[in-house]
Amino acid sequence: ANALARPSSIAITDVPHELSVTYPQLCSDVLFLALRLISAESHSRGVIGGSDLHETRVAILCEKGYLVPLALLGIWAAGGLAVPILPSLPIPEQSYMVGNSGAGMIVTDAINKARAEDLAQQVRDGTGGKCSVVELNLGDLRTEAKDEQEKKDRLEQAATWMRDLKKLDGERRAMMLYTSGTTGRPKGVVTRHSAIDSQVSAVAETWHWSHTDDLLHILPLNHLHGIVVALLPTLWAGANVEMWERFDGPGIWRRWINAEKKQPITMFFGVPTVYSRLIQAHASLSPEEQVEASKASATLRLQVSGSAPLPESLKKTWEMEGGVGGGMILLERYGMTETGIIAATGWEEEKRIRGHVGFPLANVEIRLWDEELHRAVEEEEVPGSIQVRGPGIFNEYWKLPEATASEFLDGWFKTGDVGLYSSETASKGQLKILGRNSTDIIKSGGEKISAVEIERAVLELEGMKDVAVVGVPDEEWGQVVGACVVTSRPSLSLSELRTELRSLIANYKLPRKLKLYDGEIPRNGMGKVNKKALVAAAFPPHA
Ligand code: ATP
Ligand code: MG
Repeated sequence: ANALARPSSIAITDVPHELSVTYPQLCSDVLFLALRLISAESHSRGVIGGSDLHETRVAILCEKGYLVPLALLGIWAAGGLAVPILPSLPIPEQSYMVGNSGAGMIVTDAINKARAEDLAQQVRDGTGGKCSVVELNLGDLRTEAKDEQEKKDRLEQAATWMRDLKKLDGERRAMMLYTSGTTGRPKGVVTRHSAIDSQVSAVAETWHWSHTDDLLHILPLNHLHGIVVALLPTLWAGANVEMWERFDGPGIWRRWINAEKKQPITMFFGVPTVYSRLIQAHASLSPEEQVEASKASATLRLQVSGSAPLPESLKKTWEMEGGVGGGMILLERYGMTETGIIAATGWEEEKRIRGHVGFPLANVEIRLWDEELHRAVEEEEVPGSIQVRGPGIFNEYWKLPEATASEFLDGWFKTGDVGLYSSETASKGQLKILGRNSTDIIKSGGEKISAVEIERAVLELEGMKDVAVVGVPDEEWGQVVGACVVTSRPSLSLSELRTELRSLIANYKLPRKLKLYDGEIPRNGMGKVNKKALVAAAFPPHA
């Protein structure tokens, strides 16, 4: 309804496929697809609101572009449970996801059709159940209209359908997103329509999304960040999302400069790695372009980082006056697949404080839990396990009832992360993330040390390009601090590192082990380090 109020506005600009889709056209495509899916399932012509897919898991295996949001909304309109899967994932990962979710249908495009058929066959072999493949083709969906009048009539009919479409039952399961797999095998996180509704509207309201916004979308469409944080709030607000297939550093700067005189970009979202690559790309521009690019960056309304800790040094470089980001302040947000966004830096200038992920969103309640004393932490500056509750929380981990049950305590969801509330006046009420309880909180000689805090300190030092701090098992101390570092210096010894860090962190937090890496520290698709794997590779037990 929000979008249909402005019938001629563009919902999605699909750059790789050179498509521009208005809101009424999107509605029309969604409805024709829904009918197609229902009839594919029941082998009879379906009727929206009558027969439907009854939460059948429908995997989406399409190249990034318009077809992905179209499939997502079409599956929802047909009453299915959408399972977005990235075509670029390794085949075993895709097999795991399609098999694990028990997909009854795979919606795909021409490029991925053969792969989808293989996956469907695997499901049929494995479960004996049915799994059909539906190839999405815009030409088929948009059957030729006789003339302009018929075309217009169809769009109007779609818009009417959309308005009349019974509001989907909020209790229905809508989507399964797999977690990033940073701490183990990705888990299928199932959310209901009401939870997605809550997650999406809360983000849109926090950042004052409006129909005049234009979001440049470079994230993959299989995780919370790309779908629930970036894509859906844009559509919810009736704004425009400009989709790019992949990251292109110089291209992004040039798009911001807007040499082609398109609609100006107002919002940009990325993981920390995206911003560090943009900084590298900025350096590769010509001197004149660099000046223009920094100026252009400052005309955006929002630049947001999330999914992994944002190093302070990166934030500083980005925010330098007149330089890289042109003085733009990078907002931070903290969230997870299971919850949507939990906290975000406010939109207002004075609330954008370094090192903090901001305030709880309006629809989220946060408590910090003292695991030893079994009580909520009331004091500022005292760390606790972050637990959350509210209408946006997920429903279940798919087929993992024990994991689902063990992650809740009296109705609060245990995020697995540790954080604290700041006592400083400037950042009062803002949450600071100390890291994951399982891997980032290093327990050494009875002390708890935050890996994230040490990572921040290391990056303050001259010539440090990348770092990951891990807890290395140790007979005497339980764990000791190990640092994996990428540096541009010709050499770096453990004792040099310790000496330089002394002015920044307490003695007991200083690394006792160092491993130098060339290039980059291994990260997953969302720019996160799998620390269990890293510690085993960097500091093997008997080396
Ligand atoms: P898995 O659950 O499979 O191990 P994952 O936890 O990385 O993977 P996601 O749901 O994509 O999967 O990520 C959520 C996690 O990302 C959070 O629990 C938190 O540890 C981390 N995270 C998200 N945003 C931030 C942020 N702004 N700062 C620090 N950490 C963040
Ligand atoms: Mg997780």
